[in-house]
Amino acid sequence: MNKIFNIKNLVRSNVQKLKPYSSARDEYKANGTDMVFLDANENPFKNGVNRYPDPQQRDLKLALAKLKNLKPEQVLLGNGSDEVLDLIFRAFCEPQIDNILTLPPTYGMYNVLAGINNVENKEVLLTVDYELDIKSILNAVTETTKLIFICNPNNPTGNAFDARSIKTLIENFNGIVVIDEAYIDFSSYESWINFLDIYPNIIIIQTLSKAYGMAGVRLGVCYASAEIITVLNKIKPPYNVNELTQQKALERVLKVDEVFTEVETIIIEREKLIENLQEVSFIETIFETETNFILVKLDNATKRYHQLLEKGIVIRNRTNQPLCENTLRFTVGTEQENEKLIKALQALDN
Ligand SMILES: *Cc1c(COP(=O)(O)O)cnc(C)c1O
Repeated sequence: MNKIFNIKNLVRSNVQKLKPYSSARDEYKANGTDMVFLDANENPFKNGVNRYPDPQQRDLKLALAKLKNLKPEQVLLGNGSDEVLDLIFRAFCEPQIDNILTLPPTYGMYNVLAGINNVENKEVLLTVDYELDIKSILNAVTETTKLIFICNPNNPTGNAFDARSIKTLIENFNGIVVIDEAYIDFSSYESWINFLDIYPNIIIIQTLSKAYGMAGVRLGVCYASAEIITVLNKIKPPYNVNELTQQKALERVLKVDEVFTEVETIIIEREKLIENLQEVSFIETIFETETNFILVKLDNATKRYHQLLEKGIVIRNRTNQPLCENTLRFTVGTEQENEKLIKALQALDN
C-alpha cells in the first residue's frame, strides 16, 4: 500500500463535492422533549409507521457498534448488502474509467453491480483449489483499479482464505479491499473487523440475511473507517432503512445470544450433513466449508439437480460457474429438512 493512503484520492470528484441531502429529520433531531412535529408533511394519526424513520438509524447502529466493539461512526446500514455494495461502487468508481477486480467463482452481485454502474469488472479466477491467486491478482491491478472484492468465506465454494494472503493484498494495493463477510458467523476464521484500526483501506460487509435469520427485513451492514463511512453517508438515500426493519433488527441484535445458539445448531447440522453426504456414492468431493452451505462435486450436477427437484427439494446448481463444473450447493436446513435431503440422495443412489 501507498505509505500515504488518502481516501480523497479514491473518491469520485462529483461525490467529493456533494453535500448530503438534508431531510426534515436530519435538520431537527428529537432530543427527548415532547415536541410537536409539523415539519415533514406526515399524517399525524398514529399507526406505528406514520413518522419517517431515523435516517441515521442511531439506535441500531449503536447496538451493532457495541456488539462489534466499534464506534457508531464506523457503521453504515443499507437495504441489504446489495445496496451497501452499490453505494461503494457509486462512491469510488468513475463509470467507463475505473475498474474493479473480482475473484470468481464468487458472489454474483459484484458483477451485476459493476454492469449497472458501467464499471469494468476484471475477473481473476481463484486457483483450482479455490485459493486466492495473489500474484495474478496483483498483476491485474492497474492505475484505475479502485476496488478488490473478496468474499470471505466465499460463496459458492464455502472456504475461507488464509489471513496472510488477504493481508498481502491489502498491503500491496492502493485502492480499497472490500471483504464480504456474509457468512462470518459460521466460520472459525477471525473477522477483518478486528483490523479496521490497522488498515484504513478495507471495508467489511456483513448482513442480517444469513446467520441472523432476517433475509426478509433487508439489512446490510458496512464497517469501515469513519472517513469512508462519511463518504458513503453522502450518497445514501436518506430513508434507506425503513422503520420496521430498524425495529426488528434492533430486537434481534439485542438478543444476539439467540442468534449464536441457532448458529451452533446449524453448524452441528452441517457436520452431520457432511458425514451423511460422504456415504452417497455419486458425490465425488465435498468441499471444506466455513459457511451454512456445502458445495459438492458429483457425477452429473444438472441431472441430480432435476432429480432432487422432482423429490421436492430445491438446491442450487453451480455447474456453470467457473471452476465449479458438476457442483451443487446445499444450504443447511433444519434437522428434518436435512434428513429429507439425505433420504432423497440415498434413494437416487442405487
Ligand atoms: C447472501 C449474501 C449476501 C447477502 O446479501 P443481502 O443483500 O444482505 O441479503 C451478501 N454477500 C454474499 C456473498 C452472500 O452470499
